[in-house]
Amino acid sequence: MKTIDKIYINGEFVTPNGTEYFNLISPTTNEELGQVRLGNTEDTQNAIEAAKNAFKTFSKTTASERIQYLKNIKSVIEKRKDDFINIMTEEYGGTFQFASVSYDYMLKSFDSAINLLNSYSFIKTMGESEVQMTPIGVVGIIIPWNSSNGFICSKLSTAIAAGCTTVIKPSEMSAQQTQLILECLHEANLPKGVFNIVNGLGEIVGAEISRNPDIAKISFTGSTNVGKIIAKEAVNTMKRVTLELGGKSPNIILDDADFSKAIPLALGAAFMNSGQACIAGTRLLIPEDKLNQVKSLIKETIPNFITGDPKNPNTAVGPMVSEKQFNRVQDYIQTGINEGAEILSGGLGKPEGLENGNFVKPTVFINVNNHMRIAREEIFGPVLSIITYKTEEEAIEIANDTTYGLQAYVSSSDSKRAYTVASQINAGRVQVNGIGHDPMAPFGGFKQSGIGREFGTIGLEAYLEPRALIQPK
Ligand code: NAP
Ligand code: MG
Repeated sequence: MKTIDKIYINGEFVTPNGTEYFNLISPTTNEELGQVRLGNTEDTQNAIEAAKNAFKTFSKTTASERIQYLKNIKSVIEKRKDDFINIMTEEYGGTFQFASVSYDYMLKSFDSAINLLNSYSFIKTMGESEVQMTPIGVVGIIIPWNSSNGFICSKLSTAIAAGCTTVIKPSEMSAQQTQLILECLHEANLPKGVFNIVNGLGEIVGAEISRNPDIAKISFTGSTNVGKIIAKEAVNTMKRVTLELGGKSPNIILDDADFSKAIPLALGAAFMNSGQACIAGTRLLIPEDKLNQVKSLIKETIPNFITGDPKNPNTAVGPMVSEKQFNRVQDYIQTGINEGAEILSGGLGKPEGLENGNFVKPTVFINVNNHMRIAREEIFGPVLSIITYKTEEEAIEIANDTTYGLQAYVSSSDSKRAYTVASQINAGRVQVNGIGHDPMAPFGGFKQSGIGREFGTIGLEAYLEPRALIQPK
C-alpha cells in the first residue's frame, strides 16, 4: 500500500492543506493499491501564485535556455523507462503494448518542442509592423486518466517552449503515475514554479483553475461535458482555451480496399488503449455487399485481440480504468441490444477467468444505423459499431453525421480516391490506409470534439499572444 501525500508547488514537494484521501484501486484486480491525499482550493491558489511569480523571469528566458530545460527533462525520463511502463500498467491497466508506445510519445514530445524552438520565429514582420509572439502567461493544464503522463509531457513541453509556467491537475486516479513524473521533473532542476502539480478533484482543483484570474489559458483534455463547463467559466476572465474533447471516429472502408488488411486495422483502431481512446475508430463504415466478407474476417481476427492481464506483452485489451467505466460500457452494450443492433462478437459480462478486474469483452455490433446511441455517443470502451453504406457519397454523409470530428480513417487501394474521400471528412485528423502520428501536424477536433489544436506551430501559437508594434513613418 502506497500513500501519496505530497503535491508539488514552487519547486518543492509539499503536504496539501486538503485533508481528504482518495483510494487507488487496481483495475486488474480491484484490490486497493494505495491512497492519495487531495489538494483543495487553497492549494490550487498557492500553486497558481508560484506559477505567476515564476512567469516574471521564465517568460524572458531565451530559446536556447528553454531547449536546455527540455533536454534535461527528457534525459531524466529516459532513465526510467521501465518504471513508466510498469506504473501505467499497474495503476491504469494500460496494456504493456500501449504503455510502451505512450512512453515513446512522451519522449518525442520533448524532441518536437525542441524542433519548434529551433525553427519558430517569435518575432515576425506583418504588413509594416513587427509582431512579437509573447508567452501568454500561466497555463492551467487539466487532463484525464487515459494517458496521463503522455498529456503532461505534450502540454508541459509546449508551455515551456512558449515561455509559459504551469499548474497541472491530473486525474486523481493517476496519482502514482503523477508521482513518478514529478520525481523526474524535480530531478531536471527547472526554475522554481515553472511547473506545479496539484492532485485533487475536478470540481475543486479544476474549478479553481478555471475561475482564477491569474490563469491566462487552459489546456484541457477530457470529456465534451466537462470541456463545456470549463469554457463557460473561463470566459468570465477571458481565458484562452484549448479543448481536446471526445470523439466518435468514423472508419470508411471503400469497396476497392484490401479487406484482409483493412479489417485488422479497423479492429486495432477501435480497440486501441482498450477502447479508452478519444481517437478510437468506433464507427466502421463498410459497403453493404461486403458485409458477409467483413463478418468472417472479424470472426477470424478478433481472437488475436487478447484480453487479459495488461502486463502480458501479448495482451491487446486490458481492463477499464474503474468499475464505474466498466458499468458504463456494459450499459452501452445493453443499449445497443435494446436498440436492435446484433452482437457479432463479445457482448455483456466479463470474459471467463477475468471476473476480478474491470474487463470487457471486445464487442462488435452489426445491423447498426447511425441514429442509434451506440453510433452517436462516445462509449470509451472496446465496442465497435458496423454500419453499411450503398455509395461513396452516402459513406461520407454518414461519417460526417456526428456532433464530433476528432479523427477519421479511410482505406482504399486507390490512393487518389482515398485522398478525395479523406478531404471531405470533417475531422481534425484523417488517417489514410494506416494509423500514424505526426507530432508536428495539428491535432484537435472539428465541432464538439474541441476548440483549437495541439502540436506543431499551431499548437505552440495557442500558448502565445501576438503584440504588433506599429510605428507610423
Ligand atoms: P473528464 O471527466 O472530462 O475529466 C477530465 C479532467 O477534468 C479530470 O482531471 C477531471 O477531474 C477534470 N474535471 C472534472 N470536472 C471538472 C470541472 N467541473 N472543472 C474542471 N475540471 C474538471 O474526462 P475523463 O472521463 O476523465 O476522460 C475521458 C474523456 O476524455 C473522454 O471523453 C475522451 O474522449 C476525452 N479525451 C480526449 C482526448 C483528446 O485529445 N481529444 C484525449 C483523451 C481523452 P476528476 O478526475 O477529478 O473528475
Ligand atoms: Mg471525471
